[in-house]
Amino acid sequence: MSTIKTVNPYNGKQIAEYKEHSNSEINELLSQSQNTFYDWKLTSIPERVTLLKKLSNLLLKKKEELAALITAEMGKPIKQSIAEIEKCSTVCEFYAINADDFLADELIDTEAQESFISYDPLGCILAIMPWNFPFWQVFRFAAPTLTAGNTAILKHASNTTGCALAIQNLFEEAGYPKGCFQTVIAGHKKIETIIENDIVKAVTLTGSENAGRKIAAIAGKNLKKSVLELGGNNACIVWEDANLDLYLDTMVNSRMLNAGQSCIAAKRFIVVEDIYDEFLNKFKDKISQLKVGNPMDTSTDIATLARADLAKKVKEQVDDSIKKGAIVYFGNACKNTTYQPTIITNVKPDMPLFNEEIFGPVAAIIKAKNRAETIQMASNTKFGLGTMLFTEDIEAARAQIDHIEDGSFFVNELTKSDARLPFGGTKISGYGRELSKEGMLAFVNKKTVYVK
Ligand code: NDP
Repeated sequence: MSTIKTVNPYNGKQIAEYKEHSNSEINELLSQSQNTFYDWKLTSIPERVTLLKKLSNLLLKKKEELAALITAEMGKPIKQSIAEIEKCSTVCEFYAINADDFLADELIDTEAQESFISYDPLGCILAIMPWNFPFWQVFRFAAPTLTAGNTAILKHASNTTGCALAIQNLFEEAGYPKGCFQTVIAGHKKIETIIENDIVKAVTLTGSENAGRKIAAIAGKNLKKSVLELGGNNACIVWEDANLDLYLDTMVNSRMLNAGQSCIAAKRFIVVEDIYDEFLNKFKDKISQLKVGNPMDTSTDIATLARADLAKKVKEQVDDSIKKGAIVYFGNACKNTTYQPTIITNVKPDMPLFNEEIFGPVAAIIKAKNRAETIQMASNTKFGLGTMLFTEDIEAARAQIDHIEDGSFFVNELTKSDARLPFGGTKISGYGRELSKEGMLAFVNKKTVYVK
C-alpha cells in the first residue's frame, strides 16, 4: 500500500499519512464525477451561484483553521495564509456576481433567424495543482469551472494533501452535489492513466516547466485540451525616475512574498545605472528589516521554504551563479528548509540567476546602461509571465506595451493575479488564461447555434 506523508517544513514533524487511492478507487471517483456531471450541467446558473456564495462564506468562517493548515503544510507565514483564504472568497464572489453575464448566449448577427454562441460545460476536468498557493491555485480554477457546469478532480501536490482534502470538504459542506469536486490522492505517476480515461475531458496544470511538458504531451496524445500555468522569471525594471519612496515596499513584496515561491514574483531587478546605487542601498535596508521566524507568528515575514529539496535547488542555482561572477550583497545563509532573504549583484545573462526560475527569497540585481537596455534584458528570457516597470514617465511606459511579449505588463505595481483580469503566460510559462471571463470560458464548448 502506497502512502503520502505530509511534513511541516518549519519543524520537520510529520503532520499526517494518507493512503493513496488504488486504481479501482480512482475509477470510482471518475465515474462519480461523470454521473454527477449529467445532473450538474442541468442545474441553473442561479442554483450554482447560491452554492458559490455559500462556499465563499464558509471560507471566511473557517479562515483561521484553513490558514493554519496551509502554514503547517508548506510553511507560509500565517498572515499570508489568511490573506490567501480571503482571496479565495473574493474569487467566489466575483464569479457569483458575473456568472450570468459571462455564460449568457452571445448573439451574432447573420442572415439566419437566430445565430449565437452557447457556452456548454465539457464534463470532468482534471486539475493538477502546486503547493505554493495551495488554496488560491485551486479556487481560481474551480470557482469558474464548476459554475460553468463542469465537475472537477483535483490532483494536488503531494505535500499539500491535507489542503486538498480540506477543499473537497468545503465544497461538500457548502452543499455541492457529491462528485462535483473530488480529490484524488496519488503521486503524479498515476496522472497519465487519469488523463487517458474518456471521462476526463480536459486538464489544467499549475507547476514547473518539466511537469508542463509531460502533461502537454499526454493531453496532446489524447487530443484533450490543456491549460498550463508554469514558471516565470519576471523582470522588475527600475528606471532612473522611479519613485523609490513610494514603491520600494511593492518591489520588496514582489520578490519576498511567500519566501519568493511564486511564479509571478519579481526575479530579476533590472536597474538603470543612474539610480543603481540608491536603489541597492534602499532595497537592502528594506530587505534587512524583514522579520524571519516562526510561520505561526503573525509578525513573521519569511519563515521557511516548502521542502528541503527546493531550498537545495535555490542554493545550487545561487552557487552556480557565484562561480560565474555573481556577488553576494546581502544574506545567502541556507540551512535545511530555510533560506535567508538574499540580494545578489553583478548578475549576467549566462547565470542561473538570470536565465532560470529561482523559487526562493533571492533577488538578482542587474545593472543596465539605459532604459532601452532594461527592456531588451527583460525580454531576454524563455519565460513570459509578466514584466513590471517602475517609472514616473507613464507615457514612455505606455510606449513599451507593444514590446512586452509576456502575458502581463504592470506599471508601478507588482505582477499579481486579480479575479477581474486574465492571468497566464507566453513562451515556456505556458498557455491559456485563468480568471476573468476568459477563465470561465476556459473549459466550455463554444457551440455555434444557427437557426435559419
Ligand atoms: P512540480 O511542477 O513538480 O509540482 C506541481 C504539481 O505537478 C504537483 O501536483 C506535482 O505532483 C505535479 N507533477 C510533478 N511532476 C509531474 C509529472 N511528471 N507529471 C504530472 N504531474 C506532475 O513542482 P515542484 O514542487 O517539484 O517544484 C519544482 C519547481 O517548479 C519550483 O522550484 C518552481 O520553479 C516550479 N513551480 C512553479 C509553480 C508555479 O506557480 N508556476 C508552482 C510550483 C512549482 P507531485 O506533488 O505528486 O509530484
